[in-house]
Amino acid sequence: MMTTTNALVRGRTRDLRANRSVPHEENPFDAMAARLDRAAVQLDLDPGIYRILRQPERQLTVAIPVRMDSGEIEVFTGHRVVHNTARGPGKGGIRFDTRVSLDEVSALAAWMTWKCAVVDVPFGGAKGGVSCDPFSMSPGELERLTRRYTSAIIDGLGPDSDVPAPDVNTNERVMAWVMDTYSMHVGHSVPAVVTGKPVALGGSLGRREATGRGCMIATREALAHRGMALKGATVAVQGFGNVGAVAAAQLSGAGARVVAIGDVSGAVYNARGINLEDAAEWVRAHGTLDGYAEGTSLTNDELLTLDVDVLVPAALENVITTRNAARVRAKIICEGANGPTTAEADEILDANGVFVIPDILANAGGVTVSYFEWVQNRAGYAWTEQLVNERLEETMVRSFRDVLDLSRNRQVSMRTAGYMLAMRRVAAVHELRGVYA
Ligand code: NAD
Repeated sequence: MMTTTNALVRGRTRDLRANRSVPHEENPFDAMAARLDRAAVQLDLDPGIYRILRQPERQLTVAIPVRMDSGEIEVFTGHRVVHNTARGPGKGGIRFDTRVSLDEVSALAAWMTWKCAVVDVPFGGAKGGVSCDPFSMSPGELERLTRRYTSAIIDGLGPDSDVPAPDVNTNERVMAWVMDTYSMHVGHSVPAVVTGKPVALGGSLGRREATGRGCMIATREALAHRGMALKGATVAVQGFGNVGAVAAAQLSGAGARVVAIGDVSGAVYNARGINLEDAAEWVRAHGTLDGYAEGTSLTNDELLTLDVDVLVPAALENVITTRNAARVRAKIICEGANGPTTAEADEILDANGVFVIPDILANAGGVTVSYFEWVQNRAGYAWTEQLVNERLEETMVRSFRDVLDLSRNRQVSMRTAGYMLAMRRVAAVHELRGVYA
């Protein structure tokens, strides 16, 4: 008798719970897989396709020797995971952080597959990371680390195979080093091998702001769906980096009142609204919000449970868990970060009527404009910022409505609907392509 997807899902869930050393709830790959399983059952997905989607295509772990400024050699561990390339080249950022693990990178790679499919750009999913503390490293050490990591994973990279981008603690500068290292290896300039590059090197206008702008668009659509006004809506944002600071500025620019912001050093609350330019200036000068005194100090947990209309978790994974989900008072959560909510917390938020715009939709503005950057590089023709922003707007609004329609038709959460839409698109391509060999 053929195995059903339901039976497979039950078996996989048992294995996961038995085999993991980290708490099940906070294991990012388990969190991704739990959502995938929910959507697979809803879709009654073909068991063979389910088996394909459950596994990354390629997981590479590399040792990265770096001569430090002291003259000593340190060896770092890096990963690059390609989850799925059925719809196009692998696409996904590179993260430098002490918490990087193969499980985390694998989960992030899979999220990229779903995200690219939700916004319907022709990419698959990938992710990379190096376990290191970039804040304790000099620019020279970071450059040597980036170049050696790039050369260690270079066989899989390329505009048609795997295209990195910035992620936590990496930026345009790092992408320029990746692009240069790859170009040196192949003997000519290949701008399309990475996105999120400096504009002078072929980066796209609007890319730096794209993820935060996309969060604003998704939040605007969610507020309208809930019959709430954007003007005057109160917002709390966790994470004041590329995503959080831009999302806060965009929401404020659209009329919302950002009453709280936070980062790794803590959070600050001001009922009249935070002066975001002032706060950004402080972070530029001091590195973090630590010491920024234009409001009341809060802990990150207090920020996440504030009585606001919109909460934007835009820092790291696993910040909304069974420990605090019941205390979340926001009406709408826009997941700027990847994986900020655990699968267990989803159920609590759903039961409490919180409208969650899932990460694979909420923060997809970044990969959308990365796709535009790749298209511009391959055509050798740069778009105006206005054109980039118009096309981003069109993509985010269409994708939001696609997910919302499915969620209403099937009576499932926005997250499950997002996964269903994405998996259906990826599964359709697998069915058309068949299994080689
Ligand atoms: P970033 O490094 O620019 O900023 C991260 C922010 O989070 C910083 O303000 C940092 O202080 C804060 N932070 C770190 N640890 C924290 C903690 N323990 N508690 C509270 N705050 C903490 O990174 P980013 O590019 O803004 O990425 C943030 C999230 O968004 C990540 O989950 C990333 O995967 C996701 N994301 C980024 C992009 C992009 O285009 N950069 C696109 C999609 C998703």
